[in-house]
Amino acid sequence: MQIDDARAGEIGAELAALARNSYAPYSRFHVAALALTEDGQAFPGVNMENASYGLSLCAETNALAAATTGGGLGRIAAIAIIGGRMEDGELVGDAPVLPCGRCRQLINESASLQGRDIQILAYSGSRRHVERTSINELLPHAFGPGDLE
Ligand SMILES: [Zn+2]
Repeated sequence: MQIDDARAGEIGAELAALARNSYAPYSRFHVAALALTEDGQAFPGVNMENASYGLSLCAETNALAAATTGGGLGRIAAIAIIGGRMEDGELVGDAPVLPCGRCRQLINESASLQGRDIQILAYSGSRRHVERTSINELLPHAFGPGDLE
């Protein structure tokens, strides 16, 4: 799946709008993610914190859960992520937000199901910076389904 700069811009706008649904009253760090399939589906997720901090869920985890619910876990070609602090309804921050270790493992599960790499587009809150990488780059020598055979 080729995501050109124009499409990356559209995805960034979708992520920024989605991040307004994030529930992050404790960290105040709002994150949104889209799990994108080759055939144009986009499964959304936002982070969801909890008064019992350890129960908080990442945006990527929720996007992967949505993809699974929709039957798309084995068809994800790319995961796009944005995160930052919210000021007057707009995300701010110039550092691209990359998946945490747990989310990398969850993304790897989808990649393993397909036997292929998954692109990662990491946006800064301001959308001025987009880092393009992949799950194989972020989680080399991963433990996966094949290790249980
Ligand atoms: Zn995470």
